[in-house]
Amino acid sequence: MTAACPGCNVVLVSIDTLRADELGAYGSRRGATPNLDALARRGAVFLDAFSHVPDTLPSDVSLFTSQYPWTHGVSESGRDGLKRGTRTLASVLREYGYRTVWAGTTDPYNGYRALHDGFDEAVAPRYWKHDWSGAFSWLEERHDAPFFMFLHTWSAQSPYTPADAAARRFLPALDPEKSISFEALEREAAARVSRSPQRVFSPAVIAAHPEIFADASRPPNWSALAALLDAGGSGGAKHLSSWKVLDKIYWDRFDLDRARDRAYVRALYDASVYEADEALGELLRQLGRRGLLERTLIVVTSDHGEAFGEHGTWRHGHGGNVHVEALKVPLIFAFPGARLSVRSSAVVQSIDVMPTVLQAVGAAPPASMQGVSLMPIIAGGRMDSGGAAFAAWRGNYAVRDRHYACLLREECPSSAAAPEKRCLSLLLYDRRADPGETRDIRRRSPQTAEKYEDILLRRLAE
Ligand SMILES: [Zn+2]
Repeated sequence: MTAACPGCNVVLVSIDTLRADELGAYGSRRGATPNLDALARRGAVFLDAFSHVPDTLPSDVSLFTSQYPWTHGVSESGRDGLKRGTRTLASVLREYGYRTVWAGTTDPYNGYRALHDGFDEAVAPRYWKHDWSGAFSWLEERHDAPFFMFLHTWSAQSPYTPADAAARRFLPALDPEKSISFEALEREAAARVSRSPQRVFSPAVIAAHPEIFADASRPPNWSALAALLDAGGSGGAKHLSSWKVLDKIYWDRFDLDRARDRAYVRALYDASVYEADEALGELLRQLGRRGLLERTLIVVTSDHGEAFGEHGTWRHGHGGNVHVEALKVPLIFAFPGARLSVRSSAVVQSIDVMPTVLQAVGAAPPASMQGVSLMPIIAGGRMDSGGAAFAAWRGNYAVRDRHYACLLREECPSSAAAPEKRCLSLLLYDRRADPGETRDIRRRSPQTAEKYEDILLRRLAE
């Protein structure tokens, strides 16, 4: 197949924590994504796409290497662990003369430290949270073609702190206890930590920093505490990041046993997604103003979904949740000028993005990739993979195809690298009858359960 968009610029946008069913293009009626929906109308939309892990860092590394998390080995505890010489989407495009730019924070949590070798430059936003300014100013100052921009945003990530104007779209009335700006949350966190610093820092750390902790009546700026935490300075048994502290304080204000609070926090997520969607609209307008839309392939996806209590957990990464709400993500490819009406229900995965982009622009695929190009589907051909998606997270594993989802959980400690069958519990769902994965049918279909268990274990052992 010839390249669909030879030498085109590529803008890959990852809206962190964006579950697929939040988009109108994926069936939502929440109204949070008008710009994404417009992009989807002119693009190729993969309606059944999955990431491999409900955690930003390993997921972004899979997106960029086209390797499963258990192959690339970069986990939350291995922040710099990408094997030297691993070819990434950015490094391959650079070999083809692309200027590669990382637009997003360069903190340890989104993969930048593992992936930075492939990038010519990084343009970090001024603020950690909802701020796309790095990307906008880069486009304003220089956009020498061809370029590859990866835009990662925490806009939709918890803590959800949308502006009141966005929140009012999804809430009849704002509760000042629960609707809080990011800056106010930081002030509250600084005050609470300085009142009882021993809950976050070890005694040795507190003694070593009198400039921060000596005067509890005057809480320090949150940035001083955050810098100490993010440098690994909590001194406790468990490393605490500044984000974890902020997030804990944020969620303390919701009583998740109450339906009202559950609905409220869900609406704040909607509003946060709406803000991300508005920023995406601005990005597209900027590309259009500079005449770049005619030669830019735009790809939008996410690194994982978000749970709202469907299987007893909230947010992502908690309780080993690898159910559909934690892993199903949007995946949209919008080509210059083309108005595609591709709506594919093939089961595809994050590792398919890199081979697809490389084929689209005419770059040769490295042999290290485990994903497949989706260009045959986009061009109207046939799917050439088995159409299954695989995931692993903290002793929990999942495989999905069009028919079934099979989830495994390790119930006893294993010394082997791959999970052992004797230690596994299993859940089986009929995806067509039960897309939300609510009714376990393993007892009704033991042979099917065993078949999918074997498929999953074989993939994990590869
Ligand atoms: Zn994430």
